[in-house]
Amino acid sequence: SEETMKTHVAVLPSPGIGHFIPLLELAKHLVINHNCLVSFLVITTEASAAQTQLLESPLLPVDLHVINLPPVDVFIQEDMLLTRLCVIVHENLVSIRAAIEQKRPDALVIDIFGTEAIDICDELSIPTYSFFTASANLLSFSLYLPTLDKEVDCEFRELPGPIHVPGCNPTRAEDLLDQVQDRKSNEYKWYLFHVSRLAMASGIFINSFYELEPVTLQALRENPFYKRIGTPPVHPVGPLVKEDEAMTETSAECLNWLDTQPTDSVLYISLGSGGTLTAEQMTELAHGLEMSKQRFIWVVRKPTDVSASDAFFTAGRGEDNPTMYLPEGFIRRTEGIGLVIQSWAPQVSVLRHPSTGGFLTHCGWNSILESVVHGVPMIAWPLYAEQRMNAAMLSKETRIAVKPGAVGPGKGLVGRKEIERVVRTVLEGEEGTAMRKRVRELKESAAKVLNCGGSSCQELSRVVDSWKRNRLKSTS
Ligand code: UDP
Repeated sequence: SEETMKTHVAVLPSPGIGHFIPLLELAKHLVINHNCLVSFLVITTEASAAQTQLLESPLLPVDLHVINLPPVDVFIQEDMLLTRLCVIVHENLVSIRAAIEQKRPDALVIDIFGTEAIDICDELSIPTYSFFTASANLLSFSLYLPTLDKEVDCEFRELPGPIHVPGCNPTRAEDLLDQVQDRKSNEYKWYLFHVSRLAMASGIFINSFYELEPVTLQALRENPFYKRIGTPPVHPVGPLVKEDEAMTETSAECLNWLDTQPTDSVLYISLGSGGTLTAEQMTELAHGLEMSKQRFIWVVRKPTDVSASDAFFTAGRGEDNPTMYLPEGFIRRTEGIGLVIQSWAPQVSVLRHPSTGGFLTHCGWNSILESVVHGVPMIAWPLYAEQRMNAAMLSKETRIAVKPGAVGPGKGLVGRKEIERVVRTVLEGEEGTAMRKRVRELKESAAKVLNCGGSSCQELSRVVDSWKRNRLKSTS
């Protein structure tokens, strides 16, 4: 009967593994914990190897149906990351519409770059929820951006002071995401376009939880500004992070090696799906690591001077040879102390391992949540997108990360001495111990909110109930 029929949810992630992973996790939660049936609409255009691997996992629940949208040819003049993602989604709208019309789900879940699908769902009276896969901090800024855009004429970095998002901690303009640093760029226009449309969604899921971002989440709930601009209810459902990973030869090598190391002794170094360093910076990092005499697992990628997110669409594809770009003899000298792996690691399994004691991260939001869920303090090394905002928050407010001085593109080089210092700080210093204590408290809170009965689980439950009621109403 209608009453016992499962609630049917379509989930549409935009390409880019940083969106794909949390939307897949949400889909799994909907199926496993909330008794839904999910149609997972996959954009196959320029799909990464990592994405394909995730979908091949034998652990996906049966009621999660993967629907591959046919690949389309995309001709994009410029190569900027966000523009590329947005254009790919745009070019897929015809098949997205076809899939939604055919499936007629009770609700659609999109991410930040999927807001064009709201129009399709509106025509069919299907509620659309946006899963904002970054911090609440970025969400509040993004909701404020259309207002700021109207009020300010200059570039934001030319403003005299920090940006005051209503109810939130101030943000330095230079820490704002790359996409808003040049208001004439297509990146900016696309970003503004999508965030302006957030108000059209029936609700916003956010991959965060109160203890991690108390000030911002309270502001989003209580500050009258957000209601005034028509913000739909914001539902913190995080931290949703991936739990299982495909076991490859590399994974086994990493985990076996970690098994032989002391507790909290290993620094895991990875710059997300797209992060890349310049050759010069990579050399400094290698020397700094060596000087620190600490244990490490380093996911290396061929250096490039082109862009800090160069590997975004290529990570996990093809082979490269680290001896070509690491300092002469580095691998030999650090044998037994460090493990160098190429391009892609089983990140969650590494972070979960008791020997892992620190994480040098590019501060992608998923990486941060994964580190928090497993109680690992961080070294913040922001590279692209909104990572500077995340790094500032982690090092100044949450205080679970140490940030090297002047780090990031355009900031010059982080020298080996500074690298030695931050590595020692996180793994053996008093400050490291204090950070570890704080991040372990957050780990406890995270486990609590995700438990059935916890706030994140309840939040999702209530929304699923409303979808179900909506369906029963429309069919009665
Ligand atoms: N990841 C991984 N192995 C790697 C690098 C990244 O499994 O070697 C995963 C990581 O666990 C995370 C995602 O890729 O879930 C990266 O997302 P994040 O938001 O941190 O950064 P982005 O890649 O979007 O910049």
